[in-house]
Amino acid sequence: MHKYSVRCPTCGEMQDPMSLICSKGHDALLRTFYGASQLIPRNIPGIWEFYDWLPVDGIIGEGTGKTVTYKSEAFARELGLSDLYIAFNGYWPEKNASMMTCTFKDLEAFPTMQRLLERQDRRIMAVASAGNTARAFAHVCSITRQPLLLVVPQNSVHRLWTLHEDTSSICLVTVEGDYYNAIELANKVASREMFVSEGGAKNVARRDGMGTVMLDAVLTIGKLPMHYFQAVGSGTGGISSWEASLRLIQDGRFGNVLPQLHLAQNLPCAPLISLWANNVADQSIVDRKCPKDMYADVLFNRKPPYSVVGGVRDALQATGGRMYGIDNAAAANARQLFEELEGIDINPAAAVAVAALMRAVEKKFIDRNDSIVLNITGGGMERLHRDYNLYNLVPDMRVSAHDPEAELKIVGKVSEKFKR
Ligand SMILES: *Cc1c(COP(=O)(O)O)cnc(C)c1O
Repeated sequence: MHKYSVRCPTCGEMQDPMSLICSKGHDALLRTFYGASQLIPRNIPGIWEFYDWLPVDGIIGEGTGKTVTYKSEAFARELGLSDLYIAFNGYWPEKNASMMTCTFKDLEAFPTMQRLLERQDRRIMAVASAGNTARAFAHVCSITRQPLLLVVPQNSVHRLWTLHEDTSSICLVTVEGDYYNAIELANKVASREMFVSEGGAKNVARRDGMGTVMLDAVLTIGKLPMHYFQAVGSGTGGISSWEASLRLIQDGRFGNVLPQLHLAQNLPCAPLISLWANNVADQSIVDRKCPKDMYADVLFNRKPPYSVVGGVRDALQATGGRMYGIDNAAAANARQLFEELEGIDINPAAAVAVAALMRAVEKKFIDRNDSIVLNITGGGMERLHRDYNLYNLVPDMRVSAHDPEAELKIVGKVSEKFKR
């Protein structure tokens, strides 16, 4: 058998490994199956430690980081928990944490770009994002020199900093207009033939990359935890940790009970909570108000992969999971407490997960001696800004979302820049 195969969970049919959809048309997230049934960590840098369970046939050696899992003392004591592990994704030199764009989006960007490299796919990666995903792809493409088109809303351009002085492999387009228009335009451009789109939750490289958070946690703890806490927008990280847990059960050495998923969103912009509670009325609030005034606007996602087979609903049902709605004040409060006690700055999205854990303790959804993994999806950004000289990406072009020529203008700019 090849290192891995990609199959449809509905019909079991083998698929082209790069495919995002079932060839028989089933509405399901394709899933990877690995030849190696046991997880043996490799002595290679960063995320590639989990090489055997990543859908790649090679590595990008430079610039990757991985999750660092450690047992919490101060914050755990404050909450009265005896077995709390922090899965830290970001920059924290004292803990050897070196995810240099400071969020776990790095974990999807590296395997995704490695797959294009090994297929000698010359198409241009196109990423529509309001922030962390764009930064992660900019980082990896600055290293590999693969061409990248980033389309971002004008008002999130400040999030696009990088460690690399030479960013000539990146074409950055900013879009004036509201957030929806910007994302919509980006998706239209990305669906053209010369581009390949990152694929979101449908991309197995993205999910298996994010699943390494659970792999790292379990190798550190020595067994599957009882609970997994994460802040979600699309919920892809939740799906990924469920899938990783299924593989870890198959491995046979880490227990046979799936960790319960505890997924948190930032109120009131929380479509997954409405879907899980079957509350369609909330959707109109989301449409009118969001993502304005969110504490963690990276968590906003209008169309999360909820009801697709193998999506968020299945992950929550399979694990007996829960959803948490966290308001801005609770998130801010959780952030302050965590930062004070653990001694590292965290991303606003991660603070939403911390607040969910505090809520679960308070409501006695979990027992004080339960083993818990808290995914800090982003952290150490302030620390990195102190330690490094960072460069802001300079836009190559600005377009208005209402310009009927916008799409063509972007394509023209890309062709000119990358001589395609
Ligand atoms: C993207 C992101 C999340 C949410 O990720 P999902 O795709 O919904 O799992 C959480 N935290 C940070 C910092 C992020 O960038």
